[in-house]
Formats: sequence, structure tokens, C-alpha cells
Amino acid sequence: PLERAFEVQVGPLPVPDGSGAGAVLFLRDLTSARRLETMRVDFVANASHELRTPLASLIGFIETLQGPARDDAPARERFLEIMRAQAQRMTRLIDDLLSLSRIELREHVAPTATVDLGALARQMVDAQAPPAARRGAEVTFTDGDGPYPVPGDADELARVIENLIENAVKYGGGHVRVGLSREDDPRHGARIVLTVSDDGPGIAPEHIPRLTERFYRVDVASSRARGGTGLGLAIVKHSLNRHRGRLAIDSAVGRGTTVRVSLPEHGREAEIRDQPDPV
Ligand code: ADP
Repeated sequence: PLERAFEVQVGPLPVPDGSGAGAVLFLRDLTSARRLETMRVDFVANASHELRTPLASLIGFIETLQGPARDDAPARERFLEIMRAQAQRMTRLIDDLLSLSRIELREHVAPTATVDLGALARQMVDAQAPPAARRGAEVTFTDGDGPYPVPGDADELARVIENLIENAVKYGGGHVRVGLSREDDPRHGARIVLTVSDDGPGIAPEHIPRLTERFYRVDVASSRARGGTGLGLAIVKHSLNRHRGRLAIDSAVGRGTTVRVSLPEHGREAEIRDQPDPV
């Protein structure tokens, strides 16, 4: 927890009637600037640590291959395979870091195109169902009463849907259901709602508010074993900020997880632009 921080300045305040002089005290609230700075430092430290771990393992294997395993052909093959996997992990991490920084740069630029979220969700389900089936999970899509037009960037929204389906398959498994609906809210205008549900082990309540933090994972080892970087939901959150989208994660241990994303419907947005939720 960060304490509040202030910058204090004292200046002279001459009194016009010549009866003396006063002083003026300036207080500048630095709390939010300090908080951002702390987050940035933490982020760089975490990213460096995440890259250093596979790198250390690669260096260890290279040294083994140069020394003790030089003439051991089967060991060499095994080690090369591990090294390939570690290098791949670094590539995934760098790709996610780059995506995140690109999305953050565009975060305050409203999207100009219109995307049919239903068609996009169907495409993502069609693309993800075969690899999911190889992992023993079934991904199905229930189309509602479409089309579901939203102001948006097709690539970014495709990435959001892909991340949510991937998580449901990786951590949930079983039957993953993707669905769409429309919601009329007098305050926020009409919104399109995408849900991705799984009947996996679920998430304990204390973790849920933190899942969109960069590198936050319920179980680091299980995320790594499944090829996770810990950045997926952070990328989702920043994309949704740009799209005035909201994210809600409804989960309970043993009862599976439902992730719900809502976006303003094109042409039926609320009159007053509401602020993105600080999800
Ligand atoms: P990762 O790259 O680790 O998958 P994410 O940011 O996408 O990172 O997700 C953060 C964490 O949230 C995951 O490591 C996992 O612990 C948890 N999580 C996400 N989706 C689900 C889900 N559908 N069921 C259970 N846990 C989930």
C-alpha cells in the first residue's frame, strides 16, 4: 500500500495594505504520479525476471552441451527440445509485451470502423475448435439474434475473443460455450454482450479482481506449463478500455468460469460517453 505523497512549497504573500506579509503554502498531490511510477518499475522488474528465467535455463543447457553431454546423442536431442521450448516461451512473451504496448499507445484513440461481433466470434470459434479438440475440449457457439455491430478494431476484438476462448480451454476445458446477446440499459445505451463459459475448476474470489494485472496468475507453474505469459487478460483489459467495453469475471471454485464482455452497440450508444471502467 502506497501512502499519499505531497509536494510542499511555501511562498511569500505580501499584504496590499502594508500591514505586513503573509505566507502561502502550495500542496501538490503526487499520489497518482507515484503510483504510476511504482507500477512502471514493477512492470520492468517483472518482465525482466520473466525473460531471465528461460534465458538462464538456455545458458545452462548450452554449457551442458558444450561439456558433459557433448558425446551423448540421446541427451543432446532431449536438451535441444527443451531449449526450443524455452526459446519459444521467450518469443511468446516478447510478442505479448509488444501487443500490450501497441494497444496502450492506441488506448485513447476511438475506433472508427464497425465490426459484427457475432461474425467475429463465429470465426474465432471455428479457428479455435480444432486445436481445442486436440486438447480434449469442445468449443461451441450459440448465435443469438444478430447482427451485433459494435464500433471497433476487428484485429483487436478478434484478439480479445481469442484470449478468452484460449483461457477457457487452457484452464477450464470440458465444454466451452461462446454466446452473444443484446442488453438495453437506460443509462449506458444498448450493449452487445459476449460470454465465454467453461466448466473447469473455477477461480477463488480473492484472485478475481487481480486477474487483469500484468503477470498476475493464480498458479504460475500451471500457467507456464500451458504456455501462458500472464499478460493475456491485461491485453484484454486495455483493448476493452479503448472500445468502452466492460469485463466481468464470474467464477466459483468447482463451478466453472463465465467471462462476460459488453460493448456499446453501434448507432445505439448512450448519449453521454461514460468513462471506461478501471477493470
Ligand atoms: P496466462 O497467460 O497466464 O493465461 P492471463 O492474463 O490470460 O494469463 O490469465 C491470468 C490467470 O487467470 C491465469 O494464469 C489463470 O490462473 C487465470 N484464469 C484465466 N482464465 C481462467 C479460466 N477460464 N479458468 C480458470 N482460471 C483462469
